[in-house]
Amino acid sequence: MIVVMNKNATKEQIKNVEQKLMELGFLTHPIYGEVKTVIGAIGDKRLLNTQEILTMPGVENLVPIMKPYKLASRELKQESTIVEIDDIKIGGKEIVVIAGPCAIENEESFIDTAIKVKEAGAKILRGGAFKPRTSPYSFQGLEEEGLKIMYTAKKITGLKIVTEVLDTRDVETVASYVDILQIGARNMQNFKLLKEAGSTGKPILLKRGLAATIEEWLMAAEYILSSGNDNVILCERGIRTYETSTRNTIDMSAIPVVKELSHLPIIVDPSHASGTWKYVAPLSKGAIATGADGLIIEVHLDPTCALCDGPQSLRPDKFSKLMEELALVAQAVGRQI
Ligand code: PEP
Ligand code: MN
Repeated sequence: MIVVMNKNATKEQIKNVEQKLMELGFLTHPIYGEVKTVIGAIGDKRLLNTQEILTMPGVENLVPIMKPYKLASRELKQESTIVEIDDIKIGGKEIVVIAGPCAIENEESFIDTAIKVKEAGAKILRGGAFKPRTSPYSFQGLEEEGLKIMYTAKKITGLKIVTEVLDTRDVETVASYVDILQIGARNMQNFKLLKEAGSTGKPILLKRGLAATIEEWLMAAEYILSSGNDNVILCERGIRTYETSTRNTIDMSAIPVVKELSHLPIIVDPSHASGTWKYVAPLSKGAIATGADGLIIEVHLDPTCALCDGPQSLRPDKFSKLMEELALVAQAVGRQI
């Protein structure tokens, strides 16, 4: 339910309506627009005497939210959300590129990679410290030692950092080191993890599940938003289909669909979507042309020796060249890198 306040509603009237809704057991979410304020009210509609709310001073209208996701929907918030990490804005005019290796392997190579992706124009550094591997015998990540290396790389380069958190028990530790928490595809519907990560207040990069519909993905975002955290960045990373030529099948149509259904920013991961470094450049260009707000790209100094996802990782020189090409695509669609 959306309570639309009229444009002259006072702060006090808005507060009174919120108070009333909370008394009725609703979760309230005011959005202060340029002209009007609306209050998202999430809860059991049967407890609401609509006439009582409609006659409160300052209330213009009550509008139901038809979609199952409420806080994530454009019905509630028409203006696009911009997730800010200091001076970096995801969801605005600028395309934000996140880059780095799949996993943090050691300090020297990680810092070297960080310096190179920064020189090429990346704004955020990625690197896995806790790795969700298909095989329990594969490299599982350096865990807290990896987080410390990431933090050092941040201090040296000034880049913001993002890493995946796999387990509720690690949320606090991971959040104490990084700027953005990543929820991986395999955990998109780990609802306890979504709530726990959300409650840190840190921006959350929410990857689309391996076989998740867009609606399920937005419902996962709703878990984070309903924990009181508005800073969700969606990430399309390819879905499981019958096609075997690529690791996953990139769903480019998810970009305009999500833009229509939700106010949240959406970025694309062409590395995990394709599984092959050669396809990373064309998919990145396609993603920007289709309206993505950013990209997350795997870069490794020597992909042939990578402990994880070497075949889909770009060498720094190729990444740098791609960034130059992406600037032109961004310009063509009225964005900038
Ligand atoms: C990753 O980004 O390192 C990763 C494991 O991605 P995904 O969860 O999309 O597979
Ligand atoms: Mn990877």
